[in-house]
Amino acid sequence: MVDVLVIGGGNAALCAALMAREAGASVLLLEAAPREWRGGNSVHTRNLRCMHDEPQDVLTEAYSEEEYWQDLLKVTGGITDERLARFAIRHSSSCRPWMMKHGVRFQNSLSGTLHLSRTNAFFLGGGKALVNAYFRSAEALGVEIRYESPVDRLEIVDGHFRAAWVGDQRIEARACVVANGGFESNREWLREAWGQHNGEWVAENFLIRGTRFNMGVLLKGMLEAGADRIGDPQQCHAVAIDARAPLYDGGICTRVDCVSLGIVVNRHAQRFYDEGEDFWPKRYAIWGRLVAFQPGQIGYSIIDAKAIGRFMPPVFPGEKADTLEELARKVGLDVDAFLKTVREFNAACREGTFDHSVLDDCHTEGLTPVKTHWARPIDTAPFYAFALRPGITFTYLGVKVDESAAVHFGGQPSDNLFAAGEVSAGNVLGKGYLAGIGVTIGTAFGRAAGASAARAALEQSRQQGVLRDAA
Ligand SMILES: Cc1cc2nc3c(=O)[nH]c(=O)nc-3n(C[C@H](O)[C@H](O)[C@H](O)COP(=O)(O)OP(=O)(O)OC[C@H]3O[C@@H](n4cnc5c(N)ncnc54)[C@H](O)[C@@H]3O)c2cc1C
Repeated sequence: MVDVLVIGGGNAALCAALMAREAGASVLLLEAAPREWRGGNSVHTRNLRCMHDEPQDVLTEAYSEEEYWQDLLKVTGGITDERLARFAIRHSSSCRPWMMKHGVRFQNSLSGTLHLSRTNAFFLGGGKALVNAYFRSAEALGVEIRYESPVDRLEIVDGHFRAAWVGDQRIEARACVVANGGFESNREWLREAWGQHNGEWVAENFLIRGTRFNMGVLLKGMLEAGADRIGDPQQCHAVAIDARAPLYDGGICTRVDCVSLGIVVNRHAQRFYDEGEDFWPKRYAIWGRLVAFQPGQIGYSIIDAKAIGRFMPPVFPGEKADTLEELARKVGLDVDAFLKTVREFNAACREGTFDHSVLDDCHTEGLTPVKTHWARPIDTAPFYAFALRPGITFTYLGVKVDESAAVHFGGQPSDNLFAAGEVSAGNVLGKGYLAGIGVTIGTAFGRAAGASAARAALEQSRQQGVLRDAA
């Protein structure tokens, strides 16, 4: 029997598999995807958010535990477990040497709308390189990897893991780490979770930014087996992406990052939220939800020539026009309503000193909704429009865990079932998002889960040996 069974093939699973193997356990990793699609959402990531008390290789200045915690507190509105959040934050200050030992390389952050050089360490080659490095290292250390092995169900008795089933194959292990993502790829579950708003199914037009393999099968299974539940099925990381993005795996290049530089209107050409509320990395993840609750689940990000060169251009070029009338026509908005919205916005702008790298003093007055920063009239041709859809990154409903990553049943930690990554991210992320914290959470709890699972398995093995010797 294998010591540790790891289910999933993304960052959290790989961290767990490597840690368990390093601790001396035999490890089998089951990945639902075929080899060429391995790695889940983790292949799309670019960075992890790191606490650091002084500049480090690719990280500038300092980002203290307290500042990190306050940032998290703000975006989650307090819906977070402080103990577990601080555990992940502290872990981020020391995990990178271990990552580098397994072949992960870092690079300086890019400049642009994402103000991240102080807080986030970027992977050289992105998430794909991260995942490839971990798979290489795992193979070299003797982790057995099976692709195209979706686990359908777990046998759990009184919170104790017995076996996993892949089709009609039963796989036993002394301990198990479930790191199979959220349920974001499961469109039926999303539809049910989000329900209807003004007679429309909110999730109808959701696009999935990452993998198609995170169906939440084992999340459902663990909850049905009595695991303690954490989080709200509607809460998730959801950004506004280009409406032309594919249904799955569009990745980061479909994100539209110019929202804070212009205005966003709905199908009726009405603004509906403060586009300049805060720095883009702290706000980009609310725009998917905002668009989801607009009629037809669509929005339009509108900018003028002044914004060009100030944000990361998306993969698809925006609609371009020399006049606002022509722009409205091109994207199918009512011309009069659109011109009125822009006219009112322009008239309300109180321009100070425009600076996109700080919360500047360019704002609107007497307008609802207000634009609190970076408000400048949309008056310089050419004008651009990007149609936006909600792009779901990952869901927050999960199982309750502790610092050892043990899954809780009726308030008690399982002795051999652990969970990490998106499947338990809701312990830290009740709502909202901080750029880079997905990988921080997956790395901290993935490593903890691997170490805990190895400990549990090796202890079981030792006890079985003692019993055998005594018999
Ligand atoms: C476009 C995009 C950009 C992102 N950018 C960033 C970023 O820059 N920084 C950041 O911190 N976070 C980012 N994230 C979020 C980040 O990807 C996730 O938080 C993190 O990678 C999740 O890791 P995970 O291991 O929990 O899940 P995943 O990486 O999704 O891995 C889940 C794995 O489980 C497998 N699986 C699913 N079901 C089963 C089953 N039944 N049996 C076996 N295997 C199964 C899947 O195939 C997959 O390999 C981004 C996500 C996306 C989609």
